[in-house]
Amino acid sequence: MLCTIALGAFSLFYLQRVLTSSREATLARRVGRLERFVDSASHVEPSLTLQDALQEFSVINPENDVFRVEDANMHPLISIGLTDRSMSWPNQNCNAPCFRLIQLHGSRMRLLQQIVTLRGQRMRLTLAGQVDEHYDILRMVRNSYLISIPILWTLSIAAGLLLAHRALMPVDRITRAAQTISIRDMRSRLPVPQTGDEIQRLAVAWNDLLERLDGAVSRLRQFTGDISHDLRTSLTVMSATTQVSLKKRRTTEEYEQALGIILQECQSTTQLLDDLLAASRTETQEQVAHVPIPISEMVEEACEQIRGRLEEKQLVIRPQIESDHWIYGDLSLVRRLILILLDNAVKYTPRSGTITVLLHEEENSLGLHVEDTGVGIAADQLDRVFDRFYRVDSSRNRDHSGNGLGLAIAKWITEVHGATISVASYEHKGSTFTVHFPTLS
Ligand code: ADP
Repeated sequence: MLCTIALGAFSLFYLQRVLTSSREATLARRVGRLERFVDSASHVEPSLTLQDALQEFSVINPENDVFRVEDANMHPLISIGLTDRSMSWPNQNCNAPCFRLIQLHGSRMRLLQQIVTLRGQRMRLTLAGQVDEHYDILRMVRNSYLISIPILWTLSIAAGLLLAHRALMPVDRITRAAQTISIRDMRSRLPVPQTGDEIQRLAVAWNDLLERLDGAVSRLRQFTGDISHDLRTSLTVMSATTQVSLKKRRTTEEYEQALGIILQECQSTTQLLDDLLAASRTETQEQVAHVPIPISEMVEEACEQIRGRLEEKQLVIRPQIESDHWIYGDLSLVRRLILILLDNAVKYTPRSGTITVLLHEEENSLGLHVEDTGVGIAADQLDRVFDRFYRVDSSRNRDHSGNGLGLAIAKWITEVHGATISVASYEHKGSTFTVHFPTLS
């Protein structure tokens, strides 16, 4: 709005300047014409007096509303349009034209006053022409601005509101749809306007986000159910075992057996809670320790640790571990990472299978490979096994305890150690999990 006012004021000012300078240029041209006329008149008719020449000039050039020439004693040789001598002479010497605006006989006039030399004498020349029509033009232009600018404002405000309303309509629809989506029902999606602009991209991005949230929420629901079920089963087993044991006096072996069952349930519950805690740690930007770790030793120890379970399932383990490799990191986290991979290899390899554990230096890293001849993972599931709470095909997993957190924790541990983890797998043939640790520099 300020811009239109400024533009209007500037154009009025500019128009006034143009009209004024054009009138001044016209008056200045008349002075030249007068000088030439007087000169040529004295050549053509030497007997003609200056007064007569001026008179003749005023007849031939009647366009001046004021025409006055005075000699050095301020005696007027001709005076048209001025009834008295009240038209004061400006303070400057006016060898060049002096211009001003005067009010005469109710009209506005642009006045020129200048010292000119006519027939060798210095004379005071006063010329003026009406400029009323210029002011009429300026007034008309100003009035048209005063009418058109408010109309323009009103129109542009209305058009702006209309456009804003139309542009925001899809946002409004999206907002209303978003208000109906809740954690209970995350299947609804936002309407995607086919506008090809940011709003369409925003709606698509929100729908992608909702898709991911929907997946995460249903996995969380499934997980909460599974965890509750696991905890409840453990507690039921422990309380039932205790109740049965307490019903009557038992032999020492029977008490030992009952305590063994309770211990096993306690351990699996502790493992579950540990996993949950570790998973919650992956959410925080927690700093982990950075100390030298004898990784070769640690992998060998882990292989020993699972030997009991290997024997239970008649699995063969083939460790091929280059000795004396070290990495920097957090001791307990790296141990956990190795155990997650070994534990999975044991869980998902059927009886009489083979597990190979390799640790050796590669081009720019230290590679840890855990290979098994187990059930493998379908190609379309490979990307997802590192997601939290993700378990491949639950029917296949029915026999294996687990909560879908192991590989998510493993991935987080590799990330905080600047390492990478990947998997290659063929269904019914086996899987290879590979971790590349940065080498010590
Ligand atoms: P879980 O507690 O279910 O083992 P993980 O996060 O450790 O959770 O593993 C996620 C899923 O990846 C498992 O449910 C399993 O289906 C699959 N998986 C992991 N390791 C192996 C493996 N060595 N062989 C076959 N499948 C595996």
